[in-house]
Amino acid sequence: MHVHDVVVMGAGSIGQPIALELALRGLNVAIIDRLSAPGRGQNRAAIGGMRATHSDPAKIEICTRSLDIVKRMESEHGLPVDWFQGGYLYPAYDPHTEHVLKSLLTTQQEAGLDIAWVDAETIYELVPGIVRNGLRGGNYSPGDGSTSPLKLSLAYSLLCRRAGVSYHMEREITGFRLAEDRIVRIDTSRDSFSCGTIIDATGAGARTIGAMLGLDIPVFPESHEAGITEPARRFFQPMVVDIRPGPDSANYYFYQNKENQVVFCLTPDPAIPGTDQDCTSAFLPQVTSRMMGIYPRLRNLRVRRTWRGLYPMTPDGFPIVGPAGYPENLWLAVGMCGQGFMLGPGLGQIMADIIADGSTAHQEILGQLKLQRDFSGEEKLK
Ligand SMILES: Cc1cc2nc3c(=O)[nH]c(=O)nc-3n(C[C@H](O)[C@H](O)[C@H](O)COP(=O)(O)OP(=O)(O)OC[C@H]3O[C@@H](n4cnc5c(N)ncnc54)[C@H](O)[C@@H]3O)c2cc1C
Repeated sequence: MHVHDVVVMGAGSIGQPIALELALRGLNVAIIDRLSAPGRGQNRAAIGGMRATHSDPAKIEICTRSLDIVKRMESEHGLPVDWFQGGYLYPAYDPHTEHVLKSLLTTQQEAGLDIAWVDAETIYELVPGIVRNGLRGGNYSPGDGSTSPLKLSLAYSLLCRRAGVSYHMEREITGFRLAEDRIVRIDTSRDSFSCGTIIDATGAGARTIGAMLGLDIPVFPESHEAGITEPARRFFQPMVVDIRPGPDSANYYFYQNKENQVVFCLTPDPAIPGTDQDCTSAFLPQVTSRMMGIYPRLRNLRVRRTWRGLYPMTPDGFPIVGPAGYPENLWLAVGMCGQGFMLGPGLGQIMADIIADGSTAHQEILGQLKLQRDFSGEEKLK
């Protein structure tokens, strides 16, 4: 039996930052994962977008912290994570989109976020060659950007190990033993663990873990595809997010990463529930025709590969974060939807503030993201 202060279940976008921050505060932390290496779950499927410009206070606060951490990762720790501050751009080509985007600005600007409506001319400077016909302007947030999911995961692994976190890989969590409403043992396919506090950061696996404990944790995986091109000398700056619906798809987004490759992703409509991670032949024609429609300059780029991963979705599109309530020593950090990569670093700090330091400064976040909510809201940019 391994004995620790805290066991974090899941070595992904969320689990590693939480483990690091808890270990830095002096706790003896272990991470368990069924895969052979950290970050091999959905973290590696993320395309690397990171923004603080959300539309709700909890995600704004968490991701503002994430950006601050990621921007300093190389200078503070000497660990390159390919941060590129190209900003996020949401162009509008019709009055409805313009209205939706402008209505988001009030909350965002009140929260102190650096985002504003910019005119078509400014957009053309940021994305030279973008289709101008009908372009009305758009929301632009220059402080947002992108980071390599592989490099950030590696950075967290190194920092975790330096801070004394012990990794227990290739262990499937198979069950729990409870006594007096607390988890007293975590069983895996290889061995067992005991600890004071357990954190569920199992991403798309959260519902299965919940079922082992008699809990209904509403996390439902959905399949999403992405792709990456060969590199080409930088020709545009921001992540371009087109929120107009298209045939069989909702929004799609693309950007040029630090290595100058164009990375792209599309939200299928209707959603594709389930855990299928096999690429489809439908994705490339669908996403490239949409991207070509807005940015013809992409037409000569060759696609290097595509992949498919899972968004761990919740019914309202917001994460589930906080104490489970029952069992008493279980905390949840699951259901990150399409934004777990950008939420991870900030959430790690906030969870550690609460769990290790007993901070009461994050009640608003816990209130908004708690498991015991009715899930009737709807996140507009999930
Ligand atoms: C195509 C695509 C593009 C995306 N782009 C972005 C983006 O640009 N920006 C962004 O912020 N997000 C993006 N995302 C979403 C992001 O990848 C996820 O939200 C995030 O990785 C979820 O983090 P997590 O830690 O909850 O899950 P994961 O990173 O998957 O970690 C969970 C870990 O738990 C482990 N686990 C689960 N069940 C068990 C079990 N029973 N026993 C042991 N271990 C278990 C898994 O093996 C896994 O390693 C994208 C996702 C996809 C699919």
